[in-house]
Amino acid sequence: MLIVKKFGGTSLGDADRIRAVADHLTRAKKDGNDLLVVVSAMGKTTDDLIRLASDVSDVQPPREYDMLVSSGERISMALLCMALAGNGVESVSFTGSQAGVITDTEHSRARILEVRADRLTDALNSGKIPVVAGFQGVSTDHDVTTLGRGGSDTTAVALAAVLGATVCEIYTDVTGVFSADPRIVVNARRLARVSFEEMLEISATGGRVLQLRSVEFARNHNVPLHVRSSFTWEPGTWVVEEELEMEQAVVTAVTHDDSEAKVTVTGVPDRPGVAARLFRALADRSVNVDMIVQNTSLHGATDISFTVPRVDLDVSVQTCEALRDELRATGVAFDDDVARVSLVGAGMKSHPGVTAQMFETLAANGINIDMISTSTIRISCIVRKDLVEDAVRLLHSAFDLTQTT
Ligand code: ASP
Ligand code: MG
Repeated sequence: MLIVKKFGGTSLGDADRIRAVADHLTRAKKDGNDLLVVVSAMGKTTDDLIRLASDVSDVQPPREYDMLVSSGERISMALLCMALAGNGVESVSFTGSQAGVITDTEHSRARILEVRADRLTDALNSGKIPVVAGFQGVSTDHDVTTLGRGGSDTTAVALAAVLGATVCEIYTDVTGVFSADPRIVVNARRLARVSFEEMLEISATGGRVLQLRSVEFARNHNVPLHVRSSFTWEPGTWVVEEELEMEQAVVTAVTHDDSEAKVTVTGVPDRPGVAARLFRALADRSVNVDMIVQNTSLHGATDISFTVPRVDLDVSVQTCEALRDELRATGVAFDDDVARVSLVGAGMKSHPGVTAQMFETLAANGINIDMISTSTIRISCIVRKDLVEDAVRLLHSAFDLTQTT
């Protein structure tokens, strides 16, 4: 049985943590499993490298940026192999490039195109543990690329898919995926099992445990994920394909995200092509637009509001301002005092009352809803940022999420 084990930055935070991981791997290997390990950079190394780059220069050629930030994972992989050697366990480290992770050429947010895993299978066949640097690959132009923040999750899932691993275990500093952020809701419950679809919505709406892209990859290749703690080693949360007979909780989790801001373009004429023009311009500047709301027009004009990552707020507002005359909009406004609270649950599909109960809970507590968006298994509301934690607590208790289902 092949198990892929990915260890995040806090799991490898210092020499003691690295030795603890090596001891765990030594035991797992003795149990007779084939293991492949993916590592992140130690602790806050990646943040530190990014800061260092800014201290050195405002001009950061994308190729050099990736060369720099990919180096954190090299430190972890070499140190972990040394700790394993100290335990008498044979392992061999590989950079993303050596591991055969081939990506496109989009530096700092590259996508994996293919994995040429020969060196990994050779190492496995000779009984060694391959230890792979996560978060990176080599482009079709032969340059080092990185996969976006949190990208080692995606490396782990991709390798698990290609090598046909039984499970991809993601070790982190929390014991799994919770019904809400435990720092906000003290009695939040650890979820034993969630479906890929639910996990996608949780990751997309602020659940910080897994990189969104890794969940997409796991779903597309049906790789079971097991999110668990490297501090307690106890079983955590399984992310698996939804079984038809699975008893579905109506609401599984409440998430929140305060990393976005809202932009509104007012008084745009209600005619074909306006939204197309606006969102093409934003896409051309690589702005990842999230929620979009456009109202029915009154007297031939309407308002369009949307949310964007706060880091993209300035360019979004500039882009809208630049189009204002062409679109004949009356104004462009923004609000970065907003946050999003969401309910996620596969059982929502067949339970029509959830939306009403969510709105009633917020209303009863004087929390105004600014924007609403839904999918078949999610409802999101934009509220004032300073009220979002209250909203999370209120909804968690209104939907009884502490109870085991
Ligand atoms: N070290 C990278 C980051 O901090 C990748 C990862 O941790 O998954 O984003
Ligand atoms: Mg991470």
